[in-house]
Amino acid sequence: MSDSLEKLYGTRFGGGMRSWRWYLSKVMRLFLRWFRLCPRRGRRKRPSRIRDLWNYGTVLLKSQYYNVLTNSDTVLDCVFEPIYWLVDNMTRWFGVEKSDIPTVTICKKCIVPKPARTHHCSICNRCILKMDHHCPWLNNCVGHFNHRYFFSFCLYMTMGCIYCSVSAKDMFLEAYDAIESSYETPPPAFTHQERMLHKSLVYLWVLTSSVSVALGSLTLWHAVLITRGETSVERHINRRERKRLRLRGKIFRNPYHHGKMNNWRRFFGVEKRSDWLTRVLLPSCHLPHGDGLTWDGPQYRNNTEAI
Ligand SMILES: [Zn+2]
Ligand SMILES: [Zn+2]
Repeated sequence: MSDSLEKLYGTRFGGGMRSWRWYLSKVMRLFLRWFRLCPRRGRRKRPSRIRDLWNYGTVLLKSQYYNVLTNSDTVLDCVFEPIYWLVDNMTRWFGVEKSDIPTVTICKKCIVPKPARTHHCSICNRCILKMDHHCPWLNNCVGHFNHRYFFSFCLYMTMGCIYCSVSAKDMFLEAYDAIESSYETPPPAFTHQERMLHKSLVYLWVLTSSVSVALGSLTLWHAVLITRGETSVERHINRRERKRLRLRGKIFRNPYHHGKMNNWRRFFGVEKRSDWLTRVLLPSCHLPHGDGLTWDGPQYRNNTEAI
């Protein structure tokens, strides 16, 4: 028995020479420990729910990270990055910047010139002139050609919801009281149709009042942006730029700000007084101010560090 064990382990109990199997097992154990797959002998970790959750979370995060990195868009971006760099620098070299469109850059995704205020929408997968944002409700981008329609839609929708909420307030209160009274003993004798009407009225009022608050906030925010002459995307860019220049002791000036009232005129395409009625209050299919490719403005347009 002792001979066979000796043959197997290559050692006598109590010390002596150790076989290659022992060394292999030691190396494998060290290797596994190195990858944290095997606990140390005699030092078992206490089972802990928090540690299990932590490990589970780590695995999930690593998996997500791996998925993001192996996403076809990310891989293509990484592979084509040298080409983007080449296109960007070569076009600059050949003097695209000296053309009529002074602030033009190249869209890395579309490989086409990108005029000022244009941004690439990764959802629509194309460049949008004067991009404001991608609207998930409309499933479309809001940009140069539909910004006015988007704002009018938000404004009139909010006004409609406020009108419904205010005018239906008494009906809502009556319907709510009727629903509440159904818990009394004996319950009031409402027909099925009346009960449905009460529920519909409460639903209508809650819906319109919530929409008027949510959409009203969005409309107000867009009104502030239009007054400042910037889009939602530019808001972030300008804020960053303002902060950067402030640290250098300079003042940032938005090159697309033409004064509060002029910004609104340009936004709605108002050229004469009567246009406020015909082009803003009444439905109109006129094109927006400018072509969205070039932007006229004050003298400091190309120099954001001016003033
Ligand atoms: Zn693009
Ligand atoms: Zn989009």
